[in-house]
Amino acid sequence: MSTSILVVEDEEKLARFVELELVHEGYIVSKAGDGRLALEMATNNSYDLILLDIMLPGLNGLEVLRRLGPDFKTPVILLTARDAVMDKVAGLDAGAVDYITKPFAIEELLARIRVALKLHNKMIDSSDTNKVDKEEGIYTWKGLKLDIKKHLVTYSGQEITLTNREFLMLETLLSNLDIVLSRETLLEKVCGYDYVGETNVVDVYIRFLRTKIDETFDVKMIQTIRGVGYVIKSE
Ligand code: CA
Repeated sequence: MSTSILVVEDEEKLARFVELELVHEGYIVSKAGDGRLALEMATNNSYDLILLDIMLPGLNGLEVLRRLGPDFKTPVILLTARDAVMDKVAGLDAGAVDYITKPFAIEELLARIRVALKLHNKMIDSSDTNKVDKEEGIYTWKGLKLDIKKHLVTYSGQEITLTNREFLMLETLLSNLDIVLSRETLLEKVCGYDYVGETNVVDVYIRFLRTKIDETFDVKMIQTIRGVGYVIKSE
């Protein structure tokens, strides 16, 4: 089965260029030139991945992402026009798995697409009931419970909504309790060995996890070991 990608980009020349490259790589490509059409297409079809430009007529990319909602499972890579940090943070927080800044080298885009698809398949595998034993698939820390099989994180029974990467990051830290993990190790675990971005992406995800867990439930779960990395201690 071929992998299908929806390319959402209003700049016709860029959209066409990306389409040709993706088709050359063997992907099946659909295109949308504005946010409303993109939302409609993404809702009514099941693509394997979506490339979503942020600056779009109609609805912008971030708004499209928000309207698709937290239950939308297709991986989304955002295209940002410039080095707009707030757009990236907002985008990742809204559920995008990655972003790439324009102008980009096509090789980098292709690499990120491969990583996003691999990560997505890994998530599907890890939620496969045949592969994870009920006992093995659950990690706990104080009131926190992470259930791989159900892909569910709760604190004192209250559900915490995490993106795929936040979930993987938390799972990695919990499965290595008391072991300090470097940014590089976390990046490899969460994004794959061939990830081409910077390691400070790890800090962004740690910050999201702290906001959603540490701050919300007033605990000190993820500890920073200066110059080394991060750890969750069993105490
Ligand atoms: Ca645009």
